[in-house]
Amino acid sequence: DAINEGEASYKLYHPELRKAWRQARFVEQELRIALKQKAFHLAFMPIYDAAEQRICGAEALLRTSHLPLKSFSPEVYVRVAEQAGLIREIDLWVLEEAIKALQKLNQKDFVMAVNISSRELMDIEFAEELRSLITRYHITPSQLCLEVTETFFLDVHGICFESIQAIRDLGVQLSLDDFGTGHASLQHLLNMPIDEIKIDRSFVWTLDNEKSAVIVDAIVSIAGICQYHVVAEGIETEAQLNKLAGLGCRYFQGYLIAKPDSFEKLVEICSEVKNSRRLDTQVKLRA
Ligand code: C2E
Ligand code: MG
Ligand code: MG
Ligand code: MG
Repeated sequence: DAINEGEASYKLYHPELRKAWRQARFVEQELRIALKQKAFHLAFMPIYDAAEQRICGAEALLRTSHLPLKSFSPEVYVRVAEQAGLIREIDLWVLEEAIKALQKLNQKDFVMAVNISSRELMDIEFAEELRSLITRYHITPSQLCLEVTETFFLDVHGICFESIQAIRDLGVQLSLDDFGTGHASLQHLLNMPIDEIKIDRSFVWTLDNEKSAVIVDAIVSIAGICQYHVVAEGIETEAQLNKLAGLGCRYFQGYLIAKPDSFEKLVEICSEVKNSRRLDTQVKLRA
Protein backbone atom coordinates (compact mmCIF):
# COMPACT_ATOMS: atom_id res chain seq x y z
CA ASP A 1 0.00 0.00 0.00
CA ALA A 2 0.88 3.68 0.00
CA ILE A 3 3.09 3.47 3.05
CA ASN A 4 5.43 1.14 1.24
CA GLU A 5 5.73 3.24 -1.86
CA GLY A 6 8.49 5.53 -0.74
CA GLU A 7 8.86 9.26 -0.41
CA ALA A 8 5.73 10.23 -2.23
CA SER A 9 3.61 7.98 -0.06
CA TYR A 10 1.83 10.78 1.79
CA LYS A 11 0.33 11.87 -1.50
CA LEU A 12 -0.90 8.47 -2.47
CA TYR A 13 -3.79 8.27 -0.11
CA HIS A 14 -5.73 10.40 -2.49
CA PRO A 15 -7.07 8.05 -5.19
CA GLU A 16 -6.61 10.57 -8.02
CA LEU A 17 -2.98 11.25 -7.14
CA ARG A 18 -2.36 7.58 -6.70
CA LYS A 19 -3.69 6.93 -10.16
CA ALA A 20 -1.56 9.73 -11.64
CA TRP A 21 1.52 8.36 -9.92
CA ARG A 22 0.89 4.86 -11.26
CA GLN A 23 0.37 6.24 -14.74
CA ALA A 24 3.64 8.18 -14.58
CA ARG A 25 5.52 5.03 -13.55
CA PHE A 26 3.94 3.15 -16.44
CA VAL A 27 4.90 5.89 -18.90
CA GLU A 28 8.44 5.98 -17.51
CA GLN A 29 8.87 2.23 -17.94
CA GLU A 30 7.55 2.35 -21.51
CA LEU A 31 9.77 5.35 -22.30
CA ARG A 32 12.81 3.33 -21.32
CA ILE A 33 11.72 0.53 -23.63
CA ALA A 34 11.01 2.96 -26.46
CA LEU A 35 14.44 4.55 -26.02
CA LYS A 36 16.13 1.17 -26.17
CA GLN A 37 14.21 0.28 -29.32
CA LYS A 38 14.70 3.75 -30.81
CA ALA A 39 10.95 3.87 -31.36
CA PHE A 40 10.81 7.63 -31.89
CA HIS A 41 10.52 9.88 -34.90
CA LEU A 42 9.82 13.53 -35.63
CA ALA A 43 6.77 15.31 -36.94
CA PHE A 44 7.28 18.74 -38.50
CA MET A 45 4.84 21.58 -38.04
CA PRO A 46 5.27 24.42 -40.56
CA ILE A 47 5.51 28.06 -39.51
CA TYR A 48 4.01 30.60 -41.90
CA ASP A 49 5.32 34.10 -42.55
CA ALA A 50 2.28 36.17 -43.48
CA ALA A 51 4.37 39.13 -44.63
CA GLU A 52 6.27 37.10 -47.21
CA GLN A 53 3.43 34.61 -47.63
CA ARG A 54 5.62 31.57 -47.37
CA ILE A 55 6.58 28.77 -45.02
CA CYS A 56 9.61 30.18 -43.25
CA GLY A 57 10.32 27.31 -40.90
CA ALA A 58 9.02 24.37 -38.96
CA GLU A 59 8.92 23.05 -35.44
CA ALA A 60 10.20 19.52 -34.87
CA LEU A 61 7.92 17.58 -32.52
CA LEU A 62 8.59 14.28 -30.82
CA ARG A 63 6.48 11.28 -31.82
CA THR A 64 6.63 7.62 -30.89
CA SER A 65 5.71 4.39 -32.61
CA HIS A 66 5.86 2.48 -29.32
CA LEU A 67 2.27 1.31 -28.94
CA PRO A 68 1.84 1.59 -25.17
CA LEU A 69 2.87 5.26 -25.37
CA LYS A 70 0.72 6.20 -28.31
CA SER A 71 -2.36 6.83 -26.22
CA PHE A 72 -0.51 9.59 -24.35
CA SER A 73 0.15 13.07 -25.68
CA PRO A 74 3.79 14.15 -26.08
CA GLU A 75 3.10 16.70 -23.38
CA VAL A 76 2.54 13.82 -20.94
CA TYR A 77 5.55 11.72 -21.81
CA VAL A 78 7.85 14.73 -22.10
CA ARG A 79 6.87 15.70 -18.55
CA VAL A 80 7.51 12.15 -17.29
CA ALA A 81 10.83 12.07 -19.17
CA GLU A 82 11.84 15.30 -17.42
CA GLN A 83 10.99 13.90 -14.00
CA ALA A 84 12.69 10.58 -14.70
CA GLY A 85 15.91 12.12 -15.97
CA LEU A 86 15.37 10.81 -19.50
CA ILE A 87 14.79 14.12 -21.25
CA ARG A 88 18.44 14.84 -21.95
CA GLU A 89 18.84 11.74 -24.08
CA ILE A 90 15.54 12.44 -25.85
CA ASP A 91 16.20 16.11 -26.51
CA LEU A 92 19.66 15.46 -27.90
CA TRP A 93 18.27 12.80 -30.20
CA VAL A 94 15.51 15.19 -31.39
CA LEU A 95 18.07 17.93 -31.90
CA GLU A 96 20.28 15.72 -34.06
CA GLU A 97 17.35 14.44 -36.14
CA ALA A 98 16.06 18.00 -36.63
CA ILE A 99 19.51 19.14 -37.72
CA LYS A 100 19.69 16.25 -40.19
CA ALA A 101 16.31 17.29 -41.59
CA LEU A 102 17.49 20.88 -41.91
CA GLN A 103 20.57 19.73 -43.77
CA LYS A 104 18.49 17.53 -46.06
CA LEU A 105 16.03 20.35 -46.76
CA ASN A 106 18.98 22.49 -47.80
CA GLN A 107 16.97 25.68 -48.03
CA LYS A 108 18.21 29.11 -47.03
CA ASP A 109 15.75 31.36 -45.16
CA PHE A 110 14.29 28.38 -43.38
CA VAL A 111 14.48 27.98 -39.62
CA MET A 112 14.12 24.65 -37.81
CA ALA A 113 12.78 24.95 -34.28
CA VAL A 114 13.44 22.35 -31.59
CA ASN A 115 11.95 22.18 -28.10
CA ILE A 116 14.53 21.93 -25.38
CA SER A 117 13.68 21.15 -21.80
CA SER A 118 14.85 23.89 -19.46
CA ARG A 119 16.71 21.31 -17.38
CA GLU A 120 18.89 20.73 -20.38
CA LEU A 121 19.93 24.32 -20.60
CA MET A 122 20.91 24.39 -16.96
CA ASP A 123 23.79 22.23 -18.05
CA ILE A 124 26.63 24.25 -19.53
CA GLU A 125 27.81 21.19 -21.47
CA PHE A 126 24.71 21.44 -23.63
CA ALA A 127 26.21 24.29 -25.64
CA GLU A 128 29.23 22.08 -26.39
CA GLU A 129 27.00 19.27 -27.66
CA LEU A 130 25.17 21.81 -29.77
CA ARG A 131 28.41 23.14 -31.22
CA SER A 132 29.63 19.71 -32.22
CA LEU A 133 26.32 18.87 -33.93
CA ILE A 134 26.41 22.13 -35.88
CA THR A 135 29.95 21.38 -37.02
CA ARG A 136 29.25 17.75 -37.85
CA TYR A 137 26.30 18.56 -40.12
CA HIS A 138 27.61 21.86 -41.48
CA ILE A 139 24.43 23.78 -40.83
CA THR A 140 24.10 27.54 -40.47
CA PRO A 141 23.59 28.14 -36.73
CA SER A 142 21.00 30.90 -37.25
CA GLN A 143 18.81 28.39 -39.11
CA LEU A 144 18.33 26.59 -35.83
CA CYS A 145 16.02 27.88 -33.11
CA LEU A 146 15.71 26.46 -29.62
CA GLU A 147 12.30 26.80 -27.99
CA VAL A 148 12.33 27.12 -24.23
CA THR A 149 9.49 27.88 -21.86
CA GLU A 150 9.57 30.99 -19.75
CA THR A 151 10.23 29.37 -16.35
CA PHE A 152 13.77 28.82 -17.50
CA PHE A 153 14.44 32.47 -18.12
CA LEU A 154 13.09 33.41 -14.73
CA ASP A 155 15.57 31.24 -12.92
CA VAL A 156 18.24 33.58 -11.67
CA HIS A 157 20.78 30.97 -10.65
CA GLY A 158 23.74 32.14 -12.74
CA ILE A 159 24.60 28.94 -14.58
CA CYS A 160 21.75 29.17 -17.05
CA PHE A 161 22.79 32.65 -18.16
CA GLU A 162 26.22 31.26 -18.87
CA SER A 163 24.55 28.54 -20.90
CA ILE A 164 22.32 31.02 -22.75
CA GLN A 165 25.33 33.16 -23.57
CA ALA A 166 27.21 30.16 -24.94
CA ILE A 167 24.24 29.25 -27.14
CA ARG A 168 23.87 32.81 -28.40
CA ASP A 169 27.59 33.01 -29.10
CA LEU A 170 27.12 30.06 -31.45
CA GLY A 171 24.55 32.12 -33.36
CA VAL A 172 21.63 29.79 -32.63
CA GLN A 173 18.28 31.50 -32.11
CA LEU A 174 16.25 31.32 -28.92
CA SER A 175 12.48 31.35 -28.70
CA LEU A 176 10.28 31.81 -25.65
CA ASP A 177 7.60 29.13 -26.00
CA ASP A 178 4.06 29.20 -24.60
CA PHE A 179 4.39 32.81 -23.58
CA GLY A 180 1.66 33.88 -21.21
CA THR A 181 1.17 30.59 -19.41
CA GLY A 182 3.90 31.00 -16.82
CA HIS A 183 5.05 33.77 -14.58
CA ALA A 184 6.98 36.06 -16.88
CA SER A 185 5.66 39.61 -16.90
CA LEU A 186 5.70 42.12 -19.72
CA GLN A 187 8.51 43.79 -17.77
CA HIS A 188 10.57 40.59 -17.98
CA LEU A 189 9.89 40.42 -21.66
CA LEU A 190 11.80 43.66 -22.21
CA ASN A 191 15.04 42.16 -20.93
CA MET A 192 15.11 38.63 -22.19
CA PRO A 193 18.03 37.35 -24.28
CA ILE A 194 15.76 35.95 -26.98
CA ASP A 195 14.99 36.32 -30.67
CA GLU A 196 11.35 35.28 -30.68
CA ILE A 197 8.25 34.78 -28.57
CA LYS A 198 5.50 32.31 -29.22
CA ILE A 199 2.13 33.43 -27.98
CA ASP A 200 0.43 30.51 -26.31
CA ARG A 201 -2.60 29.07 -28.02
CA SER A 202 -4.77 29.80 -24.99
CA PHE A 203 -4.69 33.48 -26.03
CA VAL A 204 -5.37 32.64 -29.64
CA TRP A 205 -8.39 30.59 -28.65
CA THR A 206 -9.88 33.36 -26.50
CA LEU A 207 -9.34 36.33 -28.78
CA ASP A 208 -13.04 37.14 -28.68
CA ASN A 209 -12.44 38.06 -25.11
CA GLU A 210 -11.41 41.72 -25.16
CA LYS A 211 -8.82 41.12 -22.42
CA SER A 212 -6.96 38.51 -24.47
CA ALA A 213 -6.87 40.85 -27.44
CA VAL A 214 -5.45 43.66 -25.28
CA ILE A 215 -2.76 41.36 -23.88
CA VAL A 216 -1.77 40.14 -27.34
CA ASP A 217 -1.65 43.74 -28.52
CA ALA A 218 0.70 44.62 -25.66
CA ILE A 219 2.91 41.58 -26.31
CA VAL A 220 3.22 42.47 -29.99
CA SER A 221 4.08 46.10 -29.10
CA ILE A 222 6.83 45.10 -26.70
CA ALA A 223 8.14 42.53 -29.15
CA GLY A 224 8.31 45.30 -31.73
CA ILE A 225 10.42 47.47 -29.44
CA CYS A 226 12.72 44.56 -28.63
CA GLN A 227 12.80 43.36 -32.23
CA TYR A 228 11.58 39.90 -31.32
CA HIS A 229 9.67 37.88 -33.87
CA VAL A 230 6.16 36.99 -32.74
CA VAL A 231 4.71 33.59 -33.59
CA ALA A 232 1.07 32.84 -32.77
CA GLU A 233 0.45 29.17 -31.96
CA GLY A 234 -2.71 27.17 -32.42
CA ILE A 235 -4.21 29.02 -35.38
CA GLU A 236 -7.22 26.98 -36.46
CA THR A 237 -9.41 29.50 -38.28
CA GLU A 238 -9.04 32.28 -40.84
CA ALA A 239 -10.72 34.60 -38.35
CA GLN A 240 -7.97 33.99 -35.80
CA LEU A 241 -5.30 34.51 -38.42
CA ASN A 242 -6.80 37.77 -39.60
CA LYS A 243 -7.39 39.11 -36.13
CA LEU A 244 -3.81 38.41 -35.07
CA ALA A 245 -2.42 39.80 -38.30
CA GLY A 246 -4.47 42.90 -37.55
CA LEU A 247 -2.74 43.13 -34.19
CA GLY A 248 0.62 43.07 -35.95
CA CYS A 249 1.52 39.41 -35.60
CA ARG A 250 3.55 38.15 -38.55
CA TYR A 251 4.28 34.46 -37.96
CA PHE A 252 1.70 31.72 -37.56
CA GLN A 253 1.53 28.08 -36.64
CA GLY A 254 -1.53 25.91 -36.34
CA TYR A 255 -3.85 23.40 -37.94
CA LEU A 256 -5.11 26.05 -40.39
CA ILE A 257 -1.67 26.13 -41.97
CA ALA A 258 -0.77 22.47 -41.45
CA LYS A 259 -0.83 19.73 -38.85
CA PRO A 260 2.42 18.16 -37.69
CA ASP A 261 3.45 15.63 -40.33
CA SER A 262 6.34 13.83 -42.01
CA PHE A 263 9.44 15.38 -43.56
CA GLU A 264 8.09 14.58 -47.03
CA LYS A 265 4.88 16.46 -46.24
CA LEU A 266 6.95 19.43 -45.04
CA VAL A 267 8.84 19.56 -48.32
CA GLU A 268 5.53 19.36 -50.16
CA ILE A 269 3.81 22.14 -48.25
CA CYS A 270 6.82 24.43 -48.58
CA SER A 271 6.57 24.37 -52.35
CA GLU A 272 2.77 24.30 -52.38
CA VAL A 273 2.44 27.53 -50.41
CA LYS A 274 5.20 29.13 -52.45
CA ASN A 275 3.41 28.41 -55.70
CA SER A 276 -0.18 29.16 -54.79
CA ARG A 277 -0.04 31.71 -51.98
CA ARG A 278 -3.03 30.04 -50.44
CA LEU A 279 -3.35 32.22 -47.40
CA ASP A 280 -4.10 35.77 -48.40
CA THR A 281 -3.70 37.77 -45.25
CA GLN A 282 -2.94 41.41 -44.85
CA VAL A 283 -0.48 41.84 -42.04
CA LYS A 284 -0.49 45.27 -40.52
CA LEU A 285 3.21 45.50 -39.90
CA ARG A 286 4.12 48.10 -37.35
CA ALA A 287 6.74 50.74 -37.90
P1 C2E B 1 4.75 23.18 -27.82
O1 C2E B 1 6.22 23.29 -27.97
O2 C2E B 1 4.01 24.40 -27.40
O3 C2E B 1 4.22 22.62 -29.21
C1 C2E B 1 3.03 23.01 -29.79
C2 C2E B 1 1.96 21.98 -29.53
O4 C2E B 1 0.72 22.53 -29.94
C3 C2E B 1 2.13 20.70 -30.38
O5 C2E B 1 1.60 19.63 -29.63
C4 C2E B 1 1.24 20.98 -31.57
O6 C2E B 1 0.77 19.82 -32.22
C5 C2E B 1 0.10 21.72 -30.89
N1 C2E B 1 -0.61 22.62 -31.82
C6 C2E B 1 -0.07 23.55 -32.62
N2 C2E B 1 -1.02 24.17 -33.35
C7 C2E B 1 -2.21 23.63 -32.98
C8 C2E B 1 -3.57 23.86 -33.37
O7 C2E B 1 -3.89 24.69 -34.23
N3 C2E B 1 -4.53 23.13 -32.77
C9 C2E B 1 -4.23 22.20 -31.83
N4 C2E B 1 -5.23 21.52 -31.28
N5 C2E B 1 -2.95 21.94 -31.43
C10 C2E B 1 -1.95 22.64 -32.01
P2 C2E B 1 2.43 18.31 -29.30
O8 C2E B 1 3.19 17.84 -30.49
O9 C2E B 1 1.43 17.39 -28.67
O10 C2E B 1 3.47 18.76 -28.23
C11 C2E B 1 3.09 19.16 -26.95
C12 C2E B 1 4.26 19.68 -26.17
O11 C2E B 1 5.21 18.66 -25.89
C13 C2E B 1 5.04 20.76 -26.91
O12 C2E B 1 4.39 22.00 -26.77
C14 C2E B 1 6.35 20.70 -26.18
O13 C2E B 1 6.29 21.45 -24.98
C15 C2E B 1 6.49 19.23 -25.85
N6 C2E B 1 7.40 18.60 -26.82
C16 C2E B 1 7.12 18.06 -28.04
N7 C2E B 1 8.25 17.56 -28.61
C17 C2E B 1 9.26 17.79 -27.73
C18 C2E B 1 10.68 17.52 -27.72
O14 C2E B 1 11.26 16.98 -28.66
N8 C2E B 1 11.40 17.91 -26.61
C19 C2E B 1 10.79 18.53 -25.54
N9 C2E B 1 11.56 18.90 -24.48
N10 C2E B 1 9.49 18.83 -25.52
C20 C2E B 1 8.72 18.46 -26.61
MG1 MG C 1 7.40 24.49 -28.97
MG1 MG D 1 4.20 26.25 -27.60
MG1 MG E 1 3.24 23.65 -25.13
